[in-house]
Amino acid sequence: MQDQIVSPPSLLSSSSSSSMNKKKNTRSCDVCKAKGFYMCKLCKGNATIEWSPLYDPVFINPCLCPTCDGHRIQRCLNCLGSGFIQ
Ligand SMILES: [Zn+2]
Ligand SMILES: [Zn+2]
Repeated sequence: MQDQIVSPPSLLSSSSSSSMNKKKNTRSCDVCKAKGFYMCKLCKGNATIEWSPLYDPVFINPCLCPTCDGHRIQRCLNCLGSGFIQ
């Protein structure tokens, strides 16, 4: 008598709880890819914005981006620049 107990290789029971991620409960920020900053959304990385005064819509002035101050990047508001969320 042989019971057909097929014991599969331990694929399911692969408890990969190896202590590699021991960073408490912080997880990386998805918005900035854990960089803490991302490309400025106002100037789209151009460092300047096209400012067109209403009284003269033809003339467009490139102005220094007030959001990033010309750095082309802005601090991630999701993780406040840390790259990780507590
Ligand atoms: Zn900007
Ligand atoms: Zn972030």
